[in-house]
Amino acid sequence: MTAPAAPGKRPSFADWRNWRLPVKFLAVTLVPVLFAIVLGVSQIRWQVEQSDEYHRVADVLDTAQRVEPLVEALQRERNSAVLSITGQQTDFQQASSDVDAAIKAVDNEIGDPMTYGSVVADRHRENVHTAPVVPEWNGHKVAIIGAGPAGLTAAGDLAKLGYKVTVYEALHVAGGVLMYGIPEFRLPKAIVQQEIDGLKKMGVDFECNMVIGKVLTIDELMGEYGYEAVFVGSGAGLPRFMGIPGESLKGVYSANEFLTRSNLMKAYLPTSKTPIRTGKKVAVVGGGNVAMDAARSALRLGAETVYIVYRRGMAELPARKEEVEHAEEEGIIFKTLCNPVEIHANDEGFVKSITCVEMELGEPDASGRRRPIEKKGSEFELDVDTVIMSLGTSPNPLIRSTTPGLETNKHGCIVTDGDDGKTSRDGVYAGGDAVTGAATVIKAMGAGKAAAKAIHEYIQNK
Ligand SMILES: Cc1cc2nc3c(=O)[nH]c(=O)nc-3n(C[C@H](O)[C@H](O)[C@H](O)COP(=O)(O)OP(=O)(O)OC[C@H]3O[C@@H](n4cnc5c(N)ncnc54)[C@H](O)[C@@H]3O)c2cc1C
Repeated sequence: MTAPAAPGKRPSFADWRNWRLPVKFLAVTLVPVLFAIVLGVSQIRWQVEQSDEYHRVADVLDTAQRVEPLVEALQRERNSAVLSITGQQTDFQQASSDVDAAIKAVDNEIGDPMTYGSVVADRHRENVHTAPVVPEWNGHKVAIIGAGPAGLTAAGDLAKLGYKVTVYEALHVAGGVLMYGIPEFRLPKAIVQQEIDGLKKMGVDFECNMVIGKVLTIDELMGEYGYEAVFVGSGAGLPRFMGIPGESLKGVYSANEFLTRSNLMKAYLPTSKTPIRTGKKVAVVGGGNVAMDAARSALRLGAETVYIVYRRGMAELPARKEEVEHAEEEGIIFKTLCNPVEIHANDEGFVKSITCVEMELGEPDASGRRRPIEKKGSEFELDVDTVIMSLGTSPNPLIRSTTPGLETNKHGCIVTDGDDGKTSRDGVYAGGDAVTGAATVIKAMGAGKAAAKAIHEYIQNK
């Protein structure tokens, strides 16, 4: 062992090799530093543990551990039909009640069943690959018009009961708004396609590019084509416009057209035969979920500035709160309390700006929301090169105008008798947005289910 350095003498290299010297050095310098770090970390940890966010995350993790066995159980139940749109597998009741239990457990804890609902559904989709049961044909045929969630759900339920089902779809792709409207970043198309493929495996036929009312009528389907019942799930895809000058200029789109062209037709590619003009400055007029989808899609297609132009205030936006939050996070600019009154063109007929007028809120109107009133003389110009109108939609008039005796209301929606989708025409049932006007996926699916049950009863009692 090396001897320690003499007092008052600088330690030599040999002295450093003395093990006691480094130990002393550590004790004097590092220990207080470590102590300070430990103290600091525990202080930070204490602060984090006091925060609401920590408790929320801890709750979610805790709930996850308790729900996990249920999820595992579902996966072991190979014949289950968890949250499947079509419910192709057999033991649907058992699987549904397991999922209900899982969701209830989560709901009680964090009040957000959707979070776990989607986790369970995703796990099921990825892990459970049960071969679909193809029921024996019961000798009856049903036609479905429209391959959106209403039509797909009705098709699945009827196929399970042994009906020969054909789905007639106007577009070249089945799925309805799930495929052509909701962007990929919110609903991956592979999920929808998997449901459609499942239906095909169950024997459901899909006839795409078939516009009922043009190529064939409901009377022809129920006459020479031999369908005993028809379900109309044709949605509400007809866009509304404002009726202001300049709405037919190049660079003005309805949200439906803009989204369909980008989702289904890849019209953003330079090779596209019908390209969409993805401008640098885009105004999306309207404040609903569809407006948020259009705005966020425009951003992804290369726009530098995207405005939401909405005539009421932030508090009145009809879009879901989380959709608004996502749009804000991505940098969408909300120009609320203003309304476009005219769209202007450049020399080539393309949009170059819009004139907007400021609004203020008056008394509540029939919808219960405060009525927007124009502020006189408050017009201002907004430089934009693309305008996307997202003002709501209504059902296309094609079916009602080619189906004698089919009752519709003043909004063009098909009138049904109660919740089972029975229309004024014998054997014709309807559901989803075609009946309610623009609503939600889950409502459309519920309507498809109810109508399938009613169609089954109708045919069996004939
Ligand atoms: C951009 C956008 C985002 C949305 N986001 C959400 C959301 O996040 N959550 C939610 O719950 N809801 C959302 N919705 C609403 C929801 O998608 C609809 O309520 C739902 O899709 C309605 O289902 P449906 O089956 O009635 O009609 P659709 O989904 O509209 O399907 C109708 C189908 O019928 C076809 N069709 C129409 N006419 C004919 C004809 N004459 N012959 C043959 N076929 C025809 C159409 O091409 C279409 O494929 C959104 C809607 C849009 C537009």
